[in-house]
Amino acid sequence: MDINRRFLLVRRPLGLPVAEDFRLVEEPVPQLDEGAILVRNAYASLDPAIRGWLDDAPSYLPPVKLGDPVRATTVGRVLVSRDPQFQEGQWVLGLNAIEDVSLVRPGGFTMAIDADAVPSVTNYLSVLGAVGMTAYFGLLEVGKAQAGDTVLVSGAAGAVGSLVGQIARLKGCRTIGIAGGAEKCRRLVADYGYDAAIDYRGKDVEALSAEIGGLAPDGVNVVFENVGGAVLDATLLHLAHGARVALCGLISEYNSPDGPSGARNLWQLIVKSATISGFLVSDFLPRFAEGAGEMGSWLAHGQLRVDEHVDEGIENALPAFLRLFEGTNQGKMILKIED
Ligand code: NDP
Repeated sequence: MDINRRFLLVRRPLGLPVAEDFRLVEEPVPQLDEGAILVRNAYASLDPAIRGWLDDAPSYLPPVKLGDPVRATTVGRVLVSRDPQFQEGQWVLGLNAIEDVSLVRPGGFTMAIDADAVPSVTNYLSVLGAVGMTAYFGLLEVGKAQAGDTVLVSGAAGAVGSLVGQIARLKGCRTIGIAGGAEKCRRLVADYGYDAAIDYRGKDVEALSAEIGGLAPDGVNVVFENVGGAVLDATLLHLAHGARVALCGLISEYNSPDGPSGARNLWQLIVKSATISGFLVSDFLPRFAEGAGEMGSWLAHGQLRVDEHVDEGIENALPAFLRLFEGTNQGKMILKIED
C-alpha cells in the first residue's frame, strides 16, 4: 500500500470539536527505521479521553500536536516488521492514531493479541482492553465493591458503565445506573441487569437527589463516577458511611468552554467518612492479564453482555466521535479504518 490516510488535528477545539479542527489528508506510507514496525490499523477505539488529548493542557499524556494525527488505541496487523518481536501479519493492539498506517518505534505501548481467541478482534478495544479493565479494576480495586454493597454508576449505559453494572451484579452487589433517556434506562435493566435506573436528563441536583434517595434509602456504598456535575453533586448527598467514590471520568466537563464546574457537595465525604479516589486504568497495567482472565471467563460463559458499535470509514471519524457526547452511542464506539 502506498497512501496513508491520516485524520489530523489542525486547530485546538473550543468546546465541542467541529470539522474545521481536523483535516483528512493522504500522505505516503512512512519509512521504516530499524527496530520499528508499520501497523495497518483495522479499527480505532473512540474514547472520551481523546477529547482531553486535543487540549493544550498538562495531562497523563502529552497533547496531540497540531498537524499530528489524532491519537487513538487501535487494533491492526503488522504490515512490515524490523523488530524481531513482531511478525508480519500478526495482530497487535497499541496506542497509535486514526490513520491507515502507524509507524511504531520501540518503547511504545504495543502488544501482540490473539484474534482467534475472541469472537471479534474488536473485543480488544472493549471488554478485553482498556474499557473492560477500567470497569473491572475501578469497581473492584478502587471502589472495593463487596457482595451486598449498593453500587451506583453514572454513564451507566456507556462502554465502561455497562460493564461496571454487570461486574457488580456478578459480584453480588445491588446496582443503580444513571443514564440519559428512557430507552437507555430501559436497556440498563433489560440488557445489563441493573436493579434500577435513573434518567438524569432535564433534572437538577434536587430532583436527582430525590430519585437516588428513593432507590437507596440506606445510602450508596460504592459510586463509579463517569460524569461529574449535577449527577455527582446529587450522588454525594446519598453516601453510606465509609462509602468509596471511584472517580473514573467527568465527561460532563470535557467540552465545557467555561472549564470544570467542580463538585459542590464534597463536605459529604467528611460527614460520611467516605473516600474519593481518582484512577487511571494504566495504574493497573501489570494486572491486566488477571482482569482480562476473569472478564474473558465471564464472556465465554455468556455471563457478560458486550455491545460494540462500529462506524465505518476514516472519513466518518468526527461524527462517530461526537456521538459519545451526544449520547447517541450504543455501547463501545469503534471506527473501522481498513476498507
Ligand atoms: P461512553 O461510551 O460511556 O460514552 C460517553 C457517554 O457519556 C455517553 O453515551 C453519554 O451517555 C454520557 N455523556 C456524554 N456527555 C455527557 C454529559 N455532558 N453529561 C452527562 N453524560 C454525558 O464512554 P466510556 O464508557 O468510554 O467512558 C466513560 C467515562 O470513563 C468517561 O468519563 C471517560 O473519560 C472515563 N474513562 C476513564 C478511564 C480512566 O482510566 N480513568 C479510562 C476509560 C474511560 P448518556 O446518553 O447516558 O448521557
